[in-house]
Amino acid sequence: MKIGFIGTGTMGQPMLANLIKKGFQAAAFDTVPAALDAAVRAGVARAHSAAEAAQGSDLIITMLPSSANVEAAYLGAGGIVEGVAPGRLCVDMSTIDPGTSQRVAERLGEGGIRFLDAPVSGGVGGATAGTLAIMVGGDAADLEEARPALAAMGSNIIHVGAVGAGEVAKLCNNLISGAVAVAVSEAFRIGEAFGVDPQILTSVIAKSSGATWVMEHMHPVPGIVESAASSRQYAPGFMTDLMAKDLGLAVSAAREKRVPVVVAPAAQQLYRMASSHGLGREDFSAVYKFLKPSSDNAPV
Ligand code: NAD
Repeated sequence: MKIGFIGTGTMGQPMLANLIKKGFQAAAFDTVPAALDAAVRAGVARAHSAAEAAQGSDLIITMLPSSANVEAAYLGAGGIVEGVAPGRLCVDMSTIDPGTSQRVAERLGEGGIRFLDAPVSGGVGGATAGTLAIMVGGDAADLEEARPALAAMGSNIIHVGAVGAGEVAKLCNNLISGAVAVAVSEAFRIGEAFGVDPQILTSVIAKSSGATWVMEHMHPVPGIVESAASSRQYAPGFMTDLMAKDLGLAVSAAREKRVPVVVAPAAQQLYRMASSHGLGREDFSAVYKFLKPSSDNAPV
């Protein structure tokens, strides 16, 4: 099976490497040539547009940063819609606004092209190991067609509902992990300010009601969890800017359905502020760096 893969960045590259390892052929495109070079070195054919990557492919996969990028890659000039054969299946694995997934699906559907939204969780580690959680929105029969390719990249494939439902599940998950990372960072800043050893505080929380996957795997304090981004100068991982984007998507989704949300917008603003202080391209756990105590003599 030949795959047209668009978006060979932090996540796309290891996902594509797993597809190649499992015997899929692929043609790939990325707007940044350097991002594509590494994929080409791994045995992927270089395409010069999304349309060219889609041409002659049995399945098209996209892994792009934002809703606007997905819209451009599918429907823009030189986009997938210009190259894909009628009847083919497209799978967008980016984290974007569910409304955009539905709009793109509808436009593709006019030309007889099928679409699934299939965002992922598990980060670069999961993408490299091929153990991503993949949450799928769309037709169940289309999921079965895509399953062998998805199984090359992930180990938990869950059908959530109609097109857009995968994105909704992803936004709900990232609302929790983004907010929890802020809470963990605040807690450790307070602990440290009172002279409590962060290693001991970690042991306490790990056995108490505050225990969380985020602290266990993405600890914001350097040197406590060896595999965490904080222990390698906050190299992503999952960038602060992407977390701010995902919390923004969650806030927009809440607004659309008139659900009151308090924690998500507060966490989003914190990530935005961290970004405006130069942390946008560092891992989102770097929000901890931003939460420094103010000077000793600041009024309280
Ligand atoms: P990234 O910025 O590293 O990679 C995205 C790639 O898409 C870049 O190389 C960029 O040049 C390319 N691109 C952008 N617009 C394009 C277009 N129109 N045509 C072709 N290429 C285009 O981002 P990433 O970390 O790989 O994340 C991709 C998506 O996966 C995002 O939606 C993100 O929220 C989601 N995600 C990321 C992680 C993570 O840990 N990094 C985890 C889960 C989900």
